[in-house]
Amino acid sequence: MKLKNPELFQQANYWNGQWRQSSTGEVIEVDNPSTGKIIGQVPSVNRAEVADAIDVAERAFQSWRQEPAHTRAKVLRKWGDLLLTHVDDLAEILTTEQGKPLAEAKGEVRYAASYLHWFAEEAPRNYGDTIPAPKTSQKIIVQKQPVGVCGCITPWNFPIAMLARKVAAALAAGCTVVAKPAEATPFSALALAYLGECAGVPGGVFNIVTGDSAMIGDEFTENPKIRKISFTGSTRVGRLLQEKSGRNLIKLSLELGGNAPLIVFDDADLDLAVKGTIAAKFRNAGQTCVCVNRLFVQRSIYDEFIKKLKVAVEALVVGDGHDEGVTIGPLIHQKAVEKFQKHFDDAVAQGARVICGDGKANGNFVKPVLMTDGKPSMMFCQEETFAPLLVAVPFDTEEEAIQLANDTPYGLASYFYSNNISRVMRVTDALESGMVGVNETAISNATAPFGGVKWSGYGREGSKYGMDEYLQVKYVLLGG
Ligand code: NAP
Repeated sequence: MKLKNPELFQQANYWNGQWRQSSTGEVIEVDNPSTGKIIGQVPSVNRAEVADAIDVAERAFQSWRQEPAHTRAKVLRKWGDLLLTHVDDLAEILTTEQGKPLAEAKGEVRYAASYLHWFAEEAPRNYGDTIPAPKTSQKIIVQKQPVGVCGCITPWNFPIAMLARKVAAALAAGCTVVAKPAEATPFSALALAYLGECAGVPGGVFNIVTGDSAMIGDEFTENPKIRKISFTGSTRVGRLLQEKSGRNLIKLSLELGGNAPLIVFDDADLDLAVKGTIAAKFRNAGQTCVCVNRLFVQRSIYDEFIKKLKVAVEALVVGDGHDEGVTIGPLIHQKAVEKFQKHFDDAVAQGARVICGDGKANGNFVKPVLMTDGKPSMMFCQEETFAPLLVAVPFDTEEEAIQLANDTPYGLASYFYSNNISRVMRVTDALESGMVGVNETAISNATAPFGGVKWSGYGREGSKYGMDEYLQVKYVLLGG
């Protein structure tokens, strides 16, 4: 990696304002999914070290919560600014460890910065209430206080943005954080910590540990000093964390897996729908939680839409994310390639027709696939594919489309294209998901509440609701 500021690439953990190695000397090696080459290593800390980081965060909480909100805001704003100043280096680190094209990596860094800037604005707006009391001699005051030390666990697909949107809200609220990034992509998170230090985040307020994920999860859920866990990742692990954190009644936010439907009605602008489908399906090589996983197209426009979509899918360019013009990077690892192939083979076996792509892999690289004649019984309809594979399913009526779209235990995002305002209102109301994109698939931004329903979890990130996840309500009755 050629970085303008090599200090952004930290191969250490960070707690109490210090860069640290594990006392055991154990490490985790991290590779580049494009080349398979090792790019560096991070410590694999033991449980006592995780507990130490939590202790440090607990001590730092006592002073950070007392800082005026405007002071916390100033630090967050500077942190966001620094991300933008270092966007090229951060994108370089991100592409090298995660694989996404450089342009997307830069987009992710800007998106991460937008959460730091947003919550810098929200910190001073942590309003409470006064409520008319039952007696004239009384006053009721409601204030919102930070919950305490937060354990934040993040996935590999958006390694800097997923962490920034948790940490920004937590620190704005006055909480402190111990974060655990995914072992496949720790360097973006560590770069974020480095810039936090430069921005003036006091030692102990933001800490990062890397190591065995189950062990760190156990410490987060069993250590009574952790008062909040915010997790982004699979439904399987989310469920596990919910079960384990129940004993200590830890406040929880779970941003989990999705299985997003995209419906194209016959009154839609088809060119717009093609553009939206491509962006929502193939961004990050199909590895986003809000990725279109199921495509439902009304039969009367089916052939025309597929024809247009084929041209757009064939224009995608697979390759190393560093290379000019590449729009589809590698999948993160071989397990992801195997899932892609399993979904491809299953769809073919159940009668889907291949329009482009071939289901083959070269290392972690796969060609984007478009298929038609999909059926709800196919594997891609049951679970996230998390790869660039798109199978179109025809439908006839609006009722059928809604039924198909909701026929999943997941409920993160859904999308549809229609120019009929009555239909827009009906379908928006009927879709069972936390977020709905109408004639638009770029739904994620700092001003909007991001989150799911059903097996996609609960809690919201970003927006005016995001800070509530890190606050608790205290009511005071003033008598006498
Ligand atoms: P994952 O396996 O659940 O991992 C997510 C994080 O949890 C990683 O840091 C992982 O660490 C850690 N982890 C694994 N086992 C754990 C345990 N027993 N206790 C505590 N932490 C544990 O998910 P993934 O495969 O990395 O990410 C893809 C999933 O995330 C998809 O389902 C996607 O839809 C979802 N996602 C959701 C959102 C959202 O906002 N709703 C956003 C992005 C992704 P290691 O990797 O180091 O093992």
